[in-house]
Amino acid sequence: MSDSNNPWAALAAGERLQAHWPTGLEEAPALPLLVVRGRRPGPVVLATGAVHGDEYEGSTAIYTLYHSLDAEQVQGVGGGLPIVNGAAWAARSRTTPHDGGDLNQAFPGGAAGLTQRLAEVIFTHFVRRCDLLLDLHSGGARLVHLPMIGWYAGGTEAEALARSFGGGLHPWLIGGRAGVLSYEAHRAGKIALGAEWGGGARLDPAGAAAYAEGIQALVSGAPAATVDHRPPLSGSYQTTEAGGLFVPDVALGQRVQAGAPLGLLYDSLGQEAARPEAERAGIIAALPHLAWLYPHDRIAYIG
Ligand SMILES: [Zn+2]
Repeated sequence: MSDSNNPWAALAAGERLQAHWPTGLEEAPALPLLVVRGRRPGPVVLATGAVHGDEYEGSTAIYTLYHSLDAEQVQGVGGGLPIVNGAAWAARSRTTPHDGGDLNQAFPGGAAGLTQRLAEVIFTHFVRRCDLLLDLHSGGARLVHLPMIGWYAGGTEAEALARSFGGGLHPWLIGGRAGVLSYEAHRAGKIALGAEWGGGARLDPAGAAAYAEGIQALVSGAPAATVDHRPPLSGSYQTTEAGGLFVPDVALGQRVQAGAPLGLLYDSLGQEAARPEAERAGIIAALPHLAWLYPHDRIAYIG
């Protein structure tokens, strides 16, 4: 790969870049790209938003930060891809409309379908050329998440950065799963962080502000003075066997024991379809936003 293709190699110290970077894929829109190269040397920090097209806090954080950031504050390169899956974004959809693919299951990419090809373009041109990746999510249309920032097992530097990210985001030891952007970045030797805030396909300005402050600390090389020592969330999504209208008995942030009732699912006649129970003990870190659940939908994240 020629270096002229490197999205930030041509930037001199103190320069900024605001561009649409062609994906080379007919059906995938050009990627909005915002980069600031600081006057001091340092790592390449890449923040990504809207890997799922119905999540907005990450994109907003990248926008506000780029337009307020002074190159004097930046150590190294601060890069942002605010809309990673532009086709999904335009469709207000979690997944790529062309093939139904979940981009966050498609990294580092492949040749089968638009989602995999887009994943390959992003991984090759951006992720492999950064030192630190921060992938910013929300619960999207279907879920609402507790604010949380995570790292992967063995990611010591990532854990230290996550714990000093600020904004009250709960520390989170993410279970590794092939195809996930931050996990594949971790496996490729990058310092990799993943974050969640809110959801319901709304934009919580507090989440965007917390994300922006955290990124600013990362790109300035000056993490917040406070360290969050709470034990990390480290669980998984629980799905429901039965569909129906879900009335939860639990709230975000609540601690539950294994076997605790999560709520009630009604069928269309108002009869009890199921009474799901917590599969593990932990803190409720996500719940459905869309209350009508299909069989096998996510009903909670317990971590
Ligand atoms: Zn997401």
